[in-house]
Amino acid sequence: MAILPITVFGDKILRKPTKKIAKIDDEIIGFVRNMFETMRNANGIGLAANQVNSSRSIFIVDISPVEDYEHYKPITLINPEIIEHSEDTIVMEEGCLSLPNLRADVERPEFIRVKYLDINENEQILEADDLLARVILHEYDHLIGKMIPDRVDGKLRKHLQKKLNKIIAREEKIDYPVTPKH
Ligand code: ZN
Repeated sequence: MAILPITVFGDKILRKPTKKIAKIDDEIIGFVRNMFETMRNANGIGLAANQVNSSRSIFIVDISPVEDYEHYKPITLINPEIIEHSEDTIVMEEGCLSLPNLRADVERPEFIRVKYLDINENEQILEADDLLARVILHEYDHLIGKMIPDRVDGKLRKHLQKKLNKIIAREEKIDYPVTPKH
């Protein structure tokens, strides 16, 4: 297993929509293991493949480190699709391993239904609300090239810009491996 460097806001791969996977082979299985090791090393609760420099339609979620969510199992979502979401939305504060030291309130649907392939290539449909829905929607956004600043209104985005510039310049203190400044 290996800890991979995490891509940071400003890295182009984070803005490119990812590609669906045709076959889940040993290479993909090893890659997903590395994703889990990388996410845990960075104390994250979700990680998308393009956050470790791979343009594949995969993300992982593990909210069990969060108080009151200890019983939730880690999940790997391959080629995920959000097939249903509620009209009702909620606002929650989010962070992102590719946006170190930035937190922002983001409004998203409260409930979702997501279809995906698990690591054994079996199709799964998961209903999620609350924190789990939140993390899934955040990670799904990564796969289509979207990030927190795209999901806030213009005023808040403006307010975040200074921080974003510092992130791009790698001036934020980050305690996990990230891609080099370019
Ligand atoms: Zn993120």
